[in-house]
Amino acid sequence: MTAMAQALAEFRTHFGGEPEGVWEAPGRVNLIGEHTDYNGGLVLPIALPQRTYAAVRRRRDDLVQLASAGMPLTKPVHLADIAPGQPADWARYPAGVLWALAEAGYAVGGVDVAFASDVPVGAGLSSSAAIEGAMGAAASDLFGLGLLAGDAGRAKLAAVCQRAENHIAGAPTGGMDQAAALRSQAEHALYLDCSDGSVTHVPFRLSGPGLALLVIDTRAEHSNSAGEYGARRADCERACERLGIASLREVSAADLPTALARLGDERLVKRVRHVVTETERVRLAVQALNADDFAELGRLFIDSHASMRDDYEISCEELDVAVLAVLEAGALGARMTGGGFGGSAIGLVYAGAVAAAQECVRTAFAAKGFAEPAFIVAEAGGPGGRTRVPRGA
Ligand code: ADP
Ligand code: MG
Repeated sequence: MTAMAQALAEFRTHFGGEPEGVWEAPGRVNLIGEHTDYNGGLVLPIALPQRTYAAVRRRRDDLVQLASAGMPLTKPVHLADIAPGQPADWARYPAGVLWALAEAGYAVGGVDVAFASDVPVGAGLSSSAAIEGAMGAAASDLFGLGLLAGDAGRAKLAAVCQRAENHIAGAPTGGMDQAAALRSQAEHALYLDCSDGSVTHVPFRLSGPGLALLVIDTRAEHSNSAGEYGARRADCERACERLGIASLREVSAADLPTALARLGDERLVKRVRHVVTETERVRLAVQALNADDFAELGRLFIDSHASMRDDYEISCEELDVAVLAVLEAGALGARMTGGGFGGSAIGLVYAGAVAAAQECVRTAFAAKGFAEPAFIVAEAGGPGGRTRVPRGA
């Protein structure tokens, strides 16, 4: 059964009758530009074909009833009762979107929602933004908010979803994931400037040059990754204070040596060096993509991984082993992607070598006694929105 059909089935089981429609939003994989979003830097994610579906029907009252295939049952919650830490379980992500919409002044009401997804959860592919985006897209259409019609509305909805994640789910993430879920274009990477929210769509088709983007879900999740994420943000804020600037984006690649000399703290030097060089690598990656220079893109992936491993210190053994294994299998480049401390890595590999690269990673993982990795060959999918449901589905 497809995830869309599963959302419909789940809806009929839990709520009876038919939903008013189905909405969807994709997971994403970031090509390059890690931990730059909350520093006002550049990022370059693609939306995935994998997505989260929401079958939704409005209610006459203000109750929010949620169900999700494969997830524990959750208690209904009144709109007015949604607050930081409430609900406490997975429902805080979609409930948070309704909260953030109401807080932004949009009139929303109670809903029955059944979710189903083929985005791996907790794999660094942003299942959280996918569920937020699907909820947000549905609310926009059903409550007549008109936020899906153009990029300006979609940018507002992405910001609402980020507020839900930050304030109700309690995850201090930047805005990349929600932008990828709602503002992407199929067959393009989303070149997002987090200093002003502006986007450019960069053609991303790997089949022409005979390449593929292999995503390796390491299945590793290290404890305290959320705490480490917060610690990195705090380091960046401290560095800004010392430099007397509002955001690390103000440090250009040319200014970097001077800025580093003024920090006088080895850890902050490493953090700032990663953030500034990473934003520069995003700029270069876009140039490489526009020039069909995939060898250069691969080199940038390799440099990016080294920077995250050595300077930002967000990699882990599973990610390093995955990256090394695909490079040994002949990949043009590879890097960890997402927040770090587990989750996924990506490799830019020849299409004919995908199976061999997977085998190389599997063997390396088995030798280390790691969990069996999972793989996705990623293509650039379209943004979230209303799902066309086939007749009779
Ligand atoms: P990632 O976004 O990388 O997958 P996160 O930790 O940010 O990982 O988000 C994962 C959390 O989001 C899950 O633990 C769950 O609470 C929620 N979530 C994501 N997808 C779903 C879904 N389809 N149904 C219910 N909850 C989901
Ligand atoms: Mg997430």
